[in-house]
Amino acid sequence: MSSYKLKCLSCHTEITDNYNIVCSCGKSGFYRTIYENRQFNPSNENNIWRFHEWLPVKSPPIQKSASNGKESKSEAGKTVVYKSKGFAKELGLQNLFIAFNGYWPEKKANILTGTFKGLEAPPSISRAKENGVKRILLATAGNTGRAFAEETINQNFEVLIVAAKSANSRLWTTKEINENNVKYITLANGNDYTNAIELGKRICNEIGVETEGGARNIARRDGMGTCFLEGVAEIGKIPKHYFQAIGSGTGGIAAWEASIRLIEDGRFGDQPARLHLSQNSRFAPIVHAWKARRNQIINEDFRIPPHEMSSLFAEVLANRTLSYSIDGGVYQALSDTNGEMYAVSEDEAKNAMKFIYQTEEIDIVPPAAVAIASLIQAVEQEKINPNELVLLNITGGGIERLKEDFELIPLKPVIEVKNPQTDLVEIAETCIH
Ligand SMILES: *Cc1c(COP(=O)(O)O)cnc(C)c1O
Ligand SMILES: [Zn+2]
Repeated sequence: MSSYKLKCLSCHTEITDNYNIVCSCGKSGFYRTIYENRQFNPSNENNIWRFHEWLPVKSPPIQKSASNGKESKSEAGKTVVYKSKGFAKELGLQNLFIAFNGYWPEKKANILTGTFKGLEAPPSISRAKENGVKRILLATAGNTGRAFAEETINQNFEVLIVAAKSANSRLWTTKEINENNVKYITLANGNDYTNAIELGKRICNEIGVETEGGARNIARRDGMGTCFLEGVAEIGKIPKHYFQAIGSGTGGIAAWEASIRLIEDGRFGDQPARLHLSQNSRFAPIVHAWKARRNQIINEDFRIPPHEMSSLFAEVLANRTLSYSIDGGVYQALSDTNGEMYAVSEDEAKNAMKFIYQTEEIDIVPPAAVAIASLIQAVEQEKINPNELVLLNITGGGIERLKEDFELIPLKPVIEVKNPQTDLVEIAETCIH
């Protein structure tokens, strides 16, 4: 049983979670979960629900096995954290821990959709169900859609997924998906993730579908935060440094908030992990804003036009709707942790990908390569000492490994539309029953 209140980070009032939270101050800052149990108390389960006391879900979902009808907790995977040998040695680091999110059965890594979005989907869907929400919509660059689609089967829930066609190769599941569970709305060629976000907003506002909430959603942030919690459960203390590639920055905020909870516990250290966050050098708005110590993203920070975004090496990081200036957002997280931002070129990321394959023997997704390249930069620039505790978030990997054991079933669109300005009547007829 998890018990919690929310704190409005604009005015610090405590409020009760009723899903569509609106603080009376009207300032639109993030809400942060304040859990009744201030002690970090993970269980021994090999899934995300081992952190249930620090997830905004009253009771973990129960799943019935199709083969024998037995009930058990939903099979959502979790992060696996281990001390790196090969890669750490190459870098000259003595205390490098890798938080691996994905599929790697030899290490008991069991997130079947291959990225840490698999940590967000289970608590987000549980929280929606517990609050009587019938269906949610999410706009995605691919990885989030995949994670939520897979989880609808585990929890028997309904999602509307909006994505540009360029995300198709990332939209698949390992289980057969029922159209009652997933309605995938695709945007024709020439659209990108930002167009998907725009269309998604219209569908929510004009047809009246609940949004999953993105970085504002406490279940998404605290779900992602379990990656950091897993690190501390393994290491025994708060690491000095945390490396991750970001798009919106939700994962970075989540790691910061996890640090804050662990500091309150008192047994794991009194300093938050220093955030080292990274982006594609061709699209690095947060890098530019932070290097100028600006608490605001300006148009010049975007640098490339929207239609070029799908050509980026790590396309899932190409997000124009950022959680940067908001109360509780990336700017505050970087300020509070004395953070650093890194811009990573395509060549650097590709080399990092090869390097990790050679030293750790696992395939990784492009954003994870960006994070690894940023760690290489940090070592070269002597931003970290060789003996300090470092937690490197490999946000996705093992998809090649997964293909050896599973068939990947592509998500089929129920409807294709031209652009975000499309008439919504047909979408409503196809998707809402
Ligand atoms: C979404 C995603 C990221 C970026 O996450 P943020 O929400 O910006 O923290 C990084 N890596 C992978 C694999 C992702 O799917
Ligand atoms: Zn408020």
